[in-house]
Amino acid sequence: MKIGARAGLVEALGIEDPGAIHITGMGLAGCCLAWQRHFRGQEFAWADDDREGASSRMAAGLINPVTGMNFSVSWRLGEFLPEAVDFYRRAEDLLGKRLWFPLPVWRLVGEKEWAKVSGKLEGAAEWVERVDEDVPGWRAAVVLKGGGRVATREFCEGTRDYFAAARKEAQADGTRVLCEGAAGLMAGRLGQHRCAKGEILTVRAAWPEDRILIGGGGWLVPVGESCFKAGSTYGWEVLDGKPTPEGRARIGEILRLLGGEEFEVTGHEAGIRPIVRKSQPVIGALADGRVVFNGLGSKGSLYAPGVAERLNAWLEGEAGIEGELDVAKLG
Ligand SMILES: Cc1cc2nc3c(=O)[nH]c(=O)nc-3n(C[C@H](O)[C@H](O)[C@H](O)COP(=O)(O)OP(=O)(O)OC[C@H]3O[C@@H](n4cnc5c(N)ncnc54)[C@H](O)[C@@H]3O)c2cc1C
Repeated sequence: MKIGARAGLVEALGIEDPGAIHITGMGLAGCCLAWQRHFRGQEFAWADDDREGASSRMAAGLINPVTGMNFSVSWRLGEFLPEAVDFYRRAEDLLGKRLWFPLPVWRLVGEKEWAKVSGKLEGAAEWVERVDEDVPGWRAAVVLKGGGRVATREFCEGTRDYFAAARKEAQADGTRVLCEGAAGLMAGRLGQHRCAKGEILTVRAAWPEDRILIGGGGWLVPVGESCFKAGSTYGWEVLDGKPTPEGRARIGEILRLLGGEEFEVTGHEAGIRPIVRKSQPVIGALADGRVVFNGLGSKGSLYAPGVAERLNAWLEGEAGIEGELDVAKLG
């Protein structure tokens, strides 16, 4: 262990030797940090106790460049998207399986929404491939470029297998990096949170597999071999990992709107999005000397690789933490 190699951490925590890095939680956040360390030949250990409601293993992995009712370009997209794509490609080579599936994202816009969306097209021009105005049932489809799907379950499972030898309990003298997702936020690590439960259906259907559809408050993502994931719901009251009949009914509506009547449900899952403020992640030292990486919200696939890289640079004393990401600046 090189004392001084983690000057940022040493300074933040006021300690002499931060010891070995231990990653607690191997969802998207923990797995990305593990790879960023591995790419640079740095050691770590990890643990995960498979909490109910962990989201990375059930998420659709969608990366959508321009999101929400406001049709807004995702925060720092031009920076984080290429970093994420490079990262998943690199992990694909080492895991020997495909993780990143680029696909056009079709934002389907109804008559009422069109006034707002059309007014925002210019600001999002870099990510707009074209606008189709002859889509049955919709005012228009804005076809976005740069998006796609990350196979998050395969990524997390593959990563845990790849680093199986590093699975260990935390040592008393090491530095624990808490990548606990919603479980950590609900335990009160960062004070108030805005975690949201969401449900997803997996279906088999004979629908086009060459695009991601977003519209009517939901989405439909092809995942290969005539299978699709559709979602999602948002619930703030009951935060657990249990699918509900209400969730199934709501996603059934989304499926009929975006796909059609003919489908067979093959899976129904629920998870909890780890949200502290919108979908902006936070990293840094907690008052008790542990380190946190959380708050990936609904956009973990996009932000986890780049934020993990920034966290690792800070752990190694190579850079400070930018204000926008710093847990110490959380209001
Ligand atoms: C319904 C739904 C749909 C989503 N769709 C998308 C999408 O299309 N695109 C997208 O980018 N994002 C999506 N997300 C969000 C995405 O899933 C999250 O941003 C991301 O998975 C969060 O990763 P994480 O590693 O922070 O947390 P998690 O995935 O929850 O991982 C945390 C891990 O830590 C473990 N853990 C927790 N506490 C401890 C402890 N004390 N000791 C040991 N282990 C512990 C848990 O078991 C878990 O494995 C979706 C989320 C939901 C719920």
